[in-house]
Amino acid sequence: MNNEKYLVVVSGPSGSGKDTVVKRLMELHPEIEISVSATTRPMRPGEREGVDYYYLARDEFERRIAAGEILEYAQYCENYYGTPRAEVDRRIAAHKTVILVIEVVGAANIKRNYPGATTVFVRPPSYEELEQRLRGRGTECEEAIQKRLRRALEEMEYAVDYDEVVVNAQVDECAEEIYALIQKHQRQ
Ligand code: 5GP
Repeated sequence: MNNEKYLVVVSGPSGSGKDTVVKRLMELHPEIEISVSATTRPMRPGEREGVDYYYLARDEFERRIAAGEILEYAQYCENYYGTPRAEVDRRIAAHKTVILVIEVVGAANIKRNYPGATTVFVRPPSYEELEQRLRGRGTECEEAIQKRLRRALEEMEYAVDYDEVVVNAQVDECAEEIYALIQKHQRQ
């Protein structure tokens, strides 16, 4: 892929606040765009088709993988999540910065295939804060929360593989920090 520097990956454990930070980043810098992923997980209350995700049945997701329509994908807590190729290609071709908010396996695949991409890992200020955020969201049952907490601890170990690590103590500051890092990498 040409222009890989326009590809930005943001990861962080569930509860790190990465989605809020990226949302803020796009409010502050509207020229940056986000890639809408496809998933087989059920829609949460308040989410919208084509805005938060494209919600697909498992067999349709697998058909798209086989057809080469998915740029990267991973299984997370028993569901598929993946980046539709179309979300990325046209933006990169138009020299628009596009952010993929994805988990660690997908992020590693992107970095392997597109070494020019910038990868940023968002850490919560502490484990306690992460647990509080996950519970405060009130969208998951206890079993799902426990699973996400275990996964969060595993994911934290991947931070060393990223180009940059930021701590999300304050949303605006963290968003601006990521923006500055993107700029720095695109100048290199
Ligand atoms: P959630 O169910 O909380 O929306 O997402 C669960 C995890 O899947 C999060 O870490 C999220 O960043 C990740 N995720 C969302 N979309 C994608 C994607 O397209 N590819 C990969 N690999 N992970 C994704």
